[in-house]
Amino acid sequence: MKYKYDLVWSVRRSISITISAENKITVRCPWGVSKTEVEQFLSNKENWIEKVVLKNSEKLTLNDDIVEYRKIYVCGKKLDLVFSDRNAFEGGTVYIKTVKDIEKLFISEFYVAFAERLKAMEEKTKLISGGVFIKDYKSRWGCCDAKNILTFNFRIFMLPQDLQEYIMLHELCHTLCHNHSPAYWKLVKGYMPDYENRRLRLKSFDFLVSLYSRIN
Ligand SMILES: [Zn+2]
Repeated sequence: MKYKYDLVWSVRRSISITISAENKITVRCPWGVSKTEVEQFLSNKENWIEKVVLKNSEKLTLNDDIVEYRKIYVCGKKLDLVFSDRNAFEGGTVYIKTVKDIEKLFISEFYVAFAERLKAMEEKTKLISGGVFIKDYKSRWGCCDAKNILTFNFRIFMLPQDLQEYIMLHELCHTLCHNHSPAYWKLVKGYMPDYENRRLRLKSFDFLVSLYSRIN
């Protein structure tokens, strides 16, 4: 196959392929399957693989302006990002001194309203958290600890409102069920019947999590 891929053997019934948003291809296959058989399998799937890879690359290029700090997402909208002598939201433009100031700026602009919306969701769902914090997570959107304290990635303020709500509800449901079992997902669905669609759309914003770090 023309694309590079990682091959992982394990106890399983059939061969599977996964392609990450960054186009990293992983092939998993059962013990005993030969490399030739894997190549055969992949050549049958080549059209599909090519389609996914192209679509991913398109998406990655679409966000060039974000990755290069020329634009920034604010509640799902792309605004101009301008490096300046101040940190401020002004007339549809985001002014910052350094990339490291983005976290502080977003928290001061959006935290209060966010906490109010979370409170309203708690009242509506009767799922009560032990408190809420915002943090610079490097690999996740939110977290619910053993004491039901919820912590959200400050990049949540960059997402469209309905995806913010999905993350809020996701963590609130963990106050009842601290895992991702079928019972947990049933609970989420009960409150948000279209959560699967939101969860899928959230994936296209996952790349934001590796941007704007305070440390590095
Ligand atoms: Zn979770």
